[in-house]
Amino acid sequence: MSESSSRSHVIVVGAGLSGLACSLALIADGNRVTLFESSDRPGGRIKTDIVDGFRIDRGFQVLLDSYPEAKAQLDLKALQLRPFEPGARIFTGSTGRFASVTDPLRRPWESLKGLRVASSRDLVAAWRMNSLVRTGAHDAPFNRPETTALARLYAAGFSATMIETFLRPFYGGVLLDRSLSTSSRLLEYYWRYFVEGRASLPRLGMEEIPKHLAAKLPSGTLRCSTRVAATDGNGVTLADGSRVVADAVVIATEMDECRRLSHDAVIDQGWRGTVMLAYDAPRAPITGAWLILDGTGKGPINHVAVPSEVSPDYAPEGRSLVYASSCDNTEGDDVAIDTSFRGQLRCWFGEIVDAWRPIRTMRIRRALPARYASPFPRDAQLNSHLGGNLFAAGDHLETGSINGALASGRRAAKDVAAALASSYEARE
Ligand SMILES: Cc1cc2nc3c(=O)[nH]c(=O)nc-3n(C[C@H](O)[C@H](O)[C@H](O)COP(=O)(O)OP(=O)(O)OC[C@H]3O[C@@H](n4cnc5c(N)ncnc54)[C@H](O)[C@@H]3O)c2cc1C
Repeated sequence: MSESSSRSHVIVVGAGLSGLACSLALIADGNRVTLFESSDRPGGRIKTDIVDGFRIDRGFQVLLDSYPEAKAQLDLKALQLRPFEPGARIFTGSTGRFASVTDPLRRPWESLKGLRVASSRDLVAAWRMNSLVRTGAHDAPFNRPETTALARLYAAGFSATMIETFLRPFYGGVLLDRSLSTSSRLLEYYWRYFVEGRASLPRLGMEEIPKHLAAKLPSGTLRCSTRVAATDGNGVTLADGSRVVADAVVIATEMDECRRLSHDAVIDQGWRGTVMLAYDAPRAPITGAWLILDGTGKGPINHVAVPSEVSPDYAPEGRSLVYASSCDNTEGDDVAIDTSFRGQLRCWFGEIVDAWRPIRTMRIRRALPARYASPFPRDAQLNSHLGGNLFAAGDHLETGSINGALASGRRAAKDVAAALASSYEARE
């Protein structure tokens, strides 16, 4: 613990993963932290609602157990992770028939020969990509040339069939961007984690992740249902007009609110959205912990998951929970969305879909910061220091991911400690 930090009070605004990670790192360094959260509980974009005994995550999300920040900051054992099968089942056009891709990134040959759409060039491309992404530091992709994810796949040598049938729906789902106009750097970043680890769900839902972090905060640190209306480096003004002073302030809200509170000190990257419908089903349409992808491109659904096949605690005894997700902001009311989703699901799984009951429709317009292949300067993206004693954390400053949010929180705490230490040194 540094002498300077032991004297400091830091306010963190926003108790998503970045705010929680930042608060815990600041506390570990000896600071006193007050963490303000506008909603009723911590977690930000990672929440799990319990409805009629089903655990419904706010949008289909997975934790990759290969994320370095997850290994460093989360107790993965305590989360009781339940893995998906590596690979996917792909709907290619005939009802009830799904092509299997098993572990395509780690064992491309065994996997791709089963798909019957992959050629030897896909095998070579997968091998090349695997060796490239596993070389160097985890942020190495951000120092490589940038293009779109789609152009990168073609440049790597994948066939159009392989891209359209598997890679587009798979990475389209990861990036919430079926056009794959997102930066190739993000494609390479995620590729590594899929090669090195497994996509998983905590046994009791994704919200267990922020819950576990929040449980480590000293009591009195977290103040929920308390919105911060304005910030500066000397403190914050709460929505009720009261003022709370501090030695430093970290804005750990989502990008738009960070821009408002910091007077546009961070870049507006735009957003990727998704619509997810959760269904109560008498039984799973496909057994096993599989991700099910749309290989036809007809939409609106891009991917389907059955979380109760991954962790039975997601559904009450004798029922299954099915998530169907699009990669865009599908328009319409709940009934219209169910009608269009159900039409596609019926085409995939047949009449069993008629017995499915929609439980919840979620429109998440601000799911991930859109990271277009763009001329954003990397330093500007990553800089958490906004000037004076005002700092920022959040996935928009790293990558739109659990790993990115945790990393940015930890990094902001480090930057706060360094700034406070130098300001104490200057005074002494
Ligand atoms: C649908 C969806 C799918 C995703 N899929 C994956 C995935 O599969 N794998 C993966 O790794 N990542 C995924 N992500 C991304 C991941 O969930 C986010 O990157 C991460 O949760 C962002 O954390 P954060 O702390 O940066 O921001 P947030 O979680 O947005 O936290 C910001 C917090 O600030 C609070 N706040 C805002 N304004 C104020 C204010 N004025 N005063 C006080 N509090 C305020 C908010 O209420 C919120 O709690 C997904 C996200 C979504 C939405």
